Amino acid sequence: MKILIESLAVNVGSNKWHWKYDVNGNFTVAGIKKILSSVNHDSPVRAFEWNNWVPKKVAIVAWRAEMEQLPTKSAFMARNVPVQGQDCVFCGEYAETSEHIFVGCQFAQSVWLNITVWCNIQPIIASGINDIFSLHEVSSGSSKKRKAIHAAVLVAV
Ligand SMILES: [Zn+2]
Repeated sequence: MKILIESLAVNVGSNKWHWKYDVNGNFTVAGIKKILSSVNHDSPVRAFEWNNWVPKKVAIVAWRAEMEQLPTKSAFMARNVPVQGQDCVFCGEYAETSEHIFVGCQFAQSVWLNITVWCNIQPIIASGINDIFSLHEVSSGSSKKRKAIHAAVLVAV
């Protein structure tokens, strides 16, 4: 034991933290961001875009729909909640998912068609719910018009 203690070199002075990922030993937020960006090469998930013209309690339905977190029949069945059939409540032909209710269903497509007529924009060609929520990004017109289109989409959902 005495040999172990005698061989130990103790530096006199103040203690200092040393960040091993920096040559100078200094931790910086920029440094950790650089490390994380080099590790995660996946593209970031598109963040939901809120619109302050739409009340939060209304837009939260769209937010949950985008995450497929609405209480649809398919969601209930996935959680082993008993439901009568899985078919869409509007058309009765396909499984009731958020994606189907807001994009694939003929009922939804008629709603979107009416919205495009009302907003005087090109018909919506959507392959997924994100295409609908990003419709205002590809629309022409002023930023106010695009914001109004985005608000109309969020309210319609
Ligand atoms: Zn349907």
